[in-house]
Amino acid sequence: MKFGGTSVGDGSRIKHVAELAKEYRDSGNEVVLVTSALNGVTDALLKSAKEASETGKTSTIKEFITDLTKQHHQAAQDAITGKKAKKIVEVVTEELDSRLEELEKALIGICYLGELTVRSIDYISSYGERLTAPILCGSLNSLGIKSRSFTGGDAGIITTDDYGNARPLEKSYSLIIERIEPLLKDSIPVITGFIGENEAGIITTLGRGGSDFSASIIGAALKADEIWLWKEVHGILTTDPMIVPEARTIPVISYIEAMELSYFGAKVLHPRTIEPAIKHGIPVRVKNTFDPSSPGTIIVKDLKQSKDIVKAVTVIRNVALINISGAGMVGTIGVAARVFTTLANAGVNIIMISQGSSEANISLVVDGSHLDKAVKGIRAEFKNGIIKDVTQDRNICVVAVVGAGMANTPGVAGRVFGALGKARVNVIIISQGSSQHNISFAVSGDDAAKAVQVLHREFGLDGEN
Ligand code: ADP
Ligand code: ASP
Ligand code: MG
Repeated sequence: MKFGGTSVGDGSRIKHVAELAKEYRDSGNEVVLVTSALNGVTDALLKSAKEASETGKTSTIKEFITDLTKQHHQAAQDAITGKKAKKIVEVVTEELDSRLEELEKALIGICYLGELTVRSIDYISSYGERLTAPILCGSLNSLGIKSRSFTGGDAGIITTDDYGNARPLEKSYSLIIERIEPLLKDSIPVITGFIGENEAGIITTLGRGGSDFSASIIGAALKADEIWLWKEVHGILTTDPMIVPEARTIPVISYIEAMELSYFGAKVLHPRTIEPAIKHGIPVRVKNTFDPSSPGTIIVKDLKQSKDIVKAVTVIRNVALINISGAGMVGTIGVAARVFTTLANAGVNIIMISQGSSEANISLVVDGSHLDKAVKGIRAEFKNGIIKDVTQDRNICVVAVVGAGMANTPGVAGRVFGALGKARVNVIIISQGSSQHNISFAVSGDDAAKAVQVLHREFGLDGEN
């Protein structure tokens, strides 16, 4: 079971988590907990590291550490109650203080160096989870349950060196069995989500929102009956409830649909979450911490063809459009190859590609944070000839409709673009993968919410049709 940032938002919520875990254990299950950082702490850590490297002000660091200390001490006091509370709070507070001291030293180091590497970003951002796990562990202890806390690396998640987006190495799966399985009989281990370590023992992170992925890696390694992700929403919804408040919970969804949804921006799941679960065919459940008895969403391997053609609508923000054009591109072999090689070498993540049959232009959607290096790379590669113009636009979003029922159903694209046309939403580029499980397109950032609302209604996802 993984608990997200809102689910462990403060001490009383952490206590609720410990009670939930106890309840499932008492009813005959073996449980492992994966925890996120307290809500907002990862953002605060990243902000503080950035400020430290830019301003070099150690006084700001001291204030930050004081606040963080207060917040976590308070959480420990509220989460740990009962007869033995005093002793347990003492032990937990001591552990928190030694973590906070390390963190302070690291941030002050960054102040002096004036430099923030990807490796230090991962190190600093790991503290959110590393400060939460001991509190949750103490809360379980105070309920009379044996528990130990582990970092992702201690638990066996050994990753590649890709700081900020690391992936587990195959050997993680056997290490997790070795280190965690023996504890399940008589305790509930608590493992930090989001982080692992590389083969040299240096802390890495699995990317923002990565605790979902951690839970899935651990669940797959232990061949769990189910992997449960507890959040503040009722499950996977038909779209982001922030955009469409009427969005409904999807009771059952297939692995492939859930993967497409998360790739195409549904923030509810880290994009890699499903991969380890698929390997062992383990069902993944998304449930609401604040309404535990409600069934949530279950993500499963096979799904009988459902009557819903479109299951969900998603939106990716923070992307950018690049348009490459020039009459010299027409009929010239190898232009696309050069464009993509250049972008790959520059480490640019490409989200969508489109080339008109006139061959006079190629349009690409890339990660917003990769735009500058992408444009620079293409300009350098083609500095003399073929490509005349490289333009860019940051104010765009990618919207996708997702559903396995779309495969081989004629007319879905017609309905998508018909509805958008009627609503006067201008579509900039379009793409449909050959899996036919999604249709995605780019629109101006100003039109994104409208596009999502129109399609949500068109496919009856609000339950009106
Ligand atoms: P946690 O970090 O607690 O595990 P997240 O905050 O990552 O949970 O995910 C829940 C958030 O995802 C919600 O606040 C919601 O606004 C957003 N969201 C976006 N798309 C969807 C969707 N299709 N279904 C559910 N939530 C969604
Ligand atoms: N705490 C991390 C984040 O905010 C990981 C997570 O919550 O899943 O991105
Ligand atoms: Mg998340």
